[in-house]
Amino acid sequence: MSSAAEPKVYGWCPGALRPMMSGDGLVVRVRAPLGKLSVNQARGVARLSQEFGNGLLDISARANLQMRGIREDAHEDLIAGLRELGLIDPDANAEARRNVLLAPFWAEGDDTHTIATDLSAALTAATDLTLPGKFGFAVDCGAAPVLQDIAADIRIERSGSSLILRADGSETGKPVTRESAVPEALALARWFVETGGAANGRGRMKPHVAKGIPLPAHHTTLTISANFTAKPGPVPAGTLAALEFGQMPAAALAQLADCGDIRLTPWRMLLVEGAESLPPLPGLILDAADPRLQVVACTGAPGCLQALSATRDLARQLAPHVPAGTRLHVSGCAKGCACPGAAPLTLTATGDDEFSLIRNGTAADQPLKTHLSADALRAAPELLTEGS
Ligand code: SF4
Repeated sequence: MSSAAEPKVYGWCPGALRPMMSGDGLVVRVRAPLGKLSVNQARGVARLSQEFGNGLLDISARANLQMRGIREDAHEDLIAGLRELGLIDPDANAEARRNVLLAPFWAEGDDTHTIATDLSAALTAATDLTLPGKFGFAVDCGAAPVLQDIAADIRIERSGSSLILRADGSETGKPVTRESAVPEALALARWFVETGGAANGRGRMKPHVAKGIPLPAHHTTLTISANFTAKPGPVPAGTLAALEFGQMPAAALAQLADCGDIRLTPWRMLLVEGAESLPPLPGLILDAADPRLQVVACTGAPGCLQALSATRDLARQLAPHVPAGTRLHVSGCAKGCACPGAAPLTLTATGDDEFSLIRNGTAADQPLKTHLSADALRAAPELLTEGS
């Protein structure tokens, strides 16, 4: 458990080929092509997690699968196993570049599926393009957008009946077709680099656009409506299951694969293709009214080296007391990994078993109350909302 007051900020995201050390071993992030695991791949990942790691799997906010607790001396064998499953890129740079998130409700051969497939291939091949580690693309071309609340730097989406390419943060976009979307997206990525967006190897599109640098020509005003909230239950492509705190035991993934191929979503949910219902399994939330859907909590102690306190037991215990329609974020430090934006209620650990309460802010914002122990919060959960 760390005692540092300031969280450490990495300018990159861990991948399979460039893992990150955490409190419980290496975190190996698998970027499944098109965010999908076949039945065989899901069973294989579950087996490798149990063989080389601690048997716990996370799903990230960019729909990647994280294998936790991987032993350092087993990393090479793990990569060999993942490569056999078709889940490893040619090299770490290609893995980092192929940061494509697609709306999970795609159908084979539709705009979303086709463009995401072509974009993934083009990014893998673009060896001369160096983008910041967190720089990503979203392909969201269904009838109604579902990824508007998900971070992405370059978006290909629908505005009325047209496909539109848009720099994140811009209120204008460029009309594109299925054929022109990918070359235009790469051109926009190159514009970002050439206009200084990736200084020192870091940078995101939204703050770059906010500087007022003129976008490339032909970007026109657009309208995008969005009001989508994912919930567990049936959807057109199958059934969604939420993961408690975005984590599940590997054994549950293997059992879930008995129901069909699995799509990873950015909502800490899995979509099981073609399934009409799913069995109750450890870590899965299948009821849209489950109070655990109203809480988010990062790994916390002891799994994260920077954590000042444990988080998830407290979040689980407070969940039934979170008022309907609001949300509680419990963070092991001020970095706020589980919810980088503002939340109605946030508890940020400031020491072992000690939290600050922030309302309508991020984990690093000014607290309303300090020095709250987990026991005090459990005994009097009204501390979260009293006086509000
Ligand atoms: S927010 Fe949580 S997971 Fe992120 S660094 Fe802090 S303790 Fe670790």
